Amino acid sequence: MSTTPAVNDHRRLGRELGLFDTDPLIGAGLPYWLPDGAAVRHALAEYLHAVERRAGYLHVASPVLGKRELYEISGHWAHYRDDMFPPMDVGDEQLVLRPSLCPHHALIYRSRSRSYRELPLRMAELGGMYRSERSGVLGGLSRVRAIQLNDAHVFCALEQVAGEVREALELIRRAHRALGVAPARYRLSLPGPGGKYVDDPELWRRSTALLREALDEAGLPYEEDEGEAAFYGPKIDVQVVDDLGRETSLSTVQVDFHLPERFDLRYVGADGARHRPVMVHRSIVGSVERAVAHLIEVHAGAFPAWFAPVQLAILPVTEAERSAAEELARRGLGRDLRAVVADPERGTLGARVREARLVPYQLVIGPAEAAEGLVAVRLRDGRRLPPLPAEEVLERVSALVAAHSTALWEPAPVVEENAPA
Ligand SMILES: [Zn+2]
Repeated sequence: MSTTPAVNDHRRLGRELGLFDTDPLIGAGLPYWLPDGAAVRHALAEYLHAVERRAGYLHVASPVLGKRELYEISGHWAHYRDDMFPPMDVGDEQLVLRPSLCPHHALIYRSRSRSYRELPLRMAELGGMYRSERSGVLGGLSRVRAIQLNDAHVFCALEQVAGEVREALELIRRAHRALGVAPARYRLSLPGPGGKYVDDPELWRRSTALLREALDEAGLPYEEDEGEAAFYGPKIDVQVVDDLGRETSLSTVQVDFHLPERFDLRYVGADGARHRPVMVHRSIVGSVERAVAHLIEVHAGAFPAWFAPVQLAILPVTEAERSAAEELARRGLGRDLRAVVADPERGTLGARVREARLVPYQLVIGPAEAAEGLVAVRLRDGRRLPPLPAEEVLERVSALVAAHSTALWEPAPVVEENAPA
């Protein structure tokens, strides 16, 4: 965490590091991702898909548009219309850019008859959604109009809800560790006066009790805040604080009895009768945009290797080692590592090392290393390792990346601490 306020402002760093930008012709709140930013985003998406797959989620894909009636049924039209883009007239229908993925997932659940044996049915999608933010509040990646949401809905029986909430909290905890993120606090978000909420006190009482129970069982301290609930139910929000001291929600878990009612969702129980499932909405990192904004600030652009835009900077000392450097970069790419050659035309070795200061691994190849198939490794934190076989370095970096580790090197055979570049 920075001691100087705003020094790590993701808007400034994002531009300086070539991660994302905007164009007035595309519009405010509609940033585009440059190759290095897209690399971070793709690494994050691949991680989420992998952990979700392993946790038993099934991935679906659904369109970013839906008919206005869909959102009338879900309640978004009545409770959330101020945050939605106006509908588009297409023939005699009205289409809406979706403000959330939940209604589509409810319909996918409903598209087949469901048995209790399929529950809990965990449905995940990294999908687009839209929010009609006013241009005055837009900035960088933290407030945008087009959002890519890491979303999932667990359709389950009532007695499975507490377990599913606990498991979602555990996925969130593990993801925060891999991302190098420390939550500021857990918040139980409750309805407040004046908000537009579904009017069903019994529903609110039951879902709030389930969330409290899950937080207590997980041993997580939390605070209750009124006025922060979703319109259809209470939620657990995992809060982080940015470099300006502003708090935002990164992750969320919600218990919802409302949408299953609205969409008349059912499953056939062991007793042969039809029962109503409960929906647990959960997001491990929230929107990709807000997550990356936070990661830029937390790490000041020096990302853990597994989501660093460039993982290996390969530096031939002179032109004579250029072909060895290019060969090593090809082998790195062959292992799915993001490798670039910083050749001598780009300046002195010292200048190239400084230019690559955010890259976790700088692999220097001089005449001696080139002759022996070795590389001299400089870690981003200033440690220098003795020359190692190039293949061993690729192997170790690949293993750390595959493990989504935040460590730069293990074990740490350090020869020189904080050597000057
Ligand atoms: Zn949802």
